[in-house]
Amino acid sequence: MHVAALVLAAGRGERLGAGVPKALLSLAGRPLLAHAIEAIAACAAIETIIPVVPEAERARCAALVRALDAGPRVREPVAGGDERQDSMVAGLAALPPGVELVAVHDAARPLVGAAEVERVVAAARRHGAALLAVPLRDTLKRVVGGCVVETLPRAACWAAQTPQVFRVELLREAIAKAAADGFQGTDDAQLVERLGVPVHVVEGDPRNLKVTWPADLALAEALLAGRT
Ligand code: C5P
Repeated sequence: MHVAALVLAAGRGERLGAGVPKALLSLAGRPLLAHAIEAIAACAAIETIIPVVPEAERARCAALVRALDAGPRVREPVAGGDERQDSMVAGLAALPPGVELVAVHDAARPLVGAAEVERVVAAARRHGAALLAVPLRDTLKRVVGGCVVETLPRAACWAAQTPQVFRVELLREAIAKAAADGFQGTDDAQLVERLGVPVHVVEGDPRNLKVTWPADLALAEALLAGRT
């Protein structure tokens, strides 16, 4: 089964306030995108990797990709869109023929481990749709206007991570339905859930954090340093 990965890196990273796209921010001296591509490439099951990058940064990202030691599995970056879902759709359109499973990964998660990627790909091979997620440590409150309006049952709540892996045809069908309904999701599994198709949950590692706020970069650097 041909498995490809999209590494989504076309976000503006406004919450980081760095003035450069988040995927080009430096983590331990190298861009987040380089870490994320290498993390995905460390999983032998992934045969093709397509980075999805900001249109304005395509040349810079292409040079970055060529300088990586990840081999011919990593293709030329393609331009993303305004919303994350648009970038995922752009990446999907660039898949070579014959790809059966696609792993969608956020470049903002540079620390994912090869073993986790292997496990979620294996689950998607069996079930058609799978994601990495971790049980919540905090109790979740729904807050409106600064006040709690609801406490969600923690035991049933998991935090979704990436990669999220799907049969390509299933994801295309989910995108078509989302487009017809005018629905924008914050992750890819949501689109598949809307088809009523079960998405299998594979327990991930809390260290697969998503770099979102400035403090996350320091935390990611500490975690990276702790690995070696
Ligand atoms: O914005 P958010 O934190 O949800 O972004 C998650 C991932 O999706 C990031 O790696 C970001 O670069 C990517 N993204 C994208 N295209 C967008 C918005 C986000 O590829 N338009």
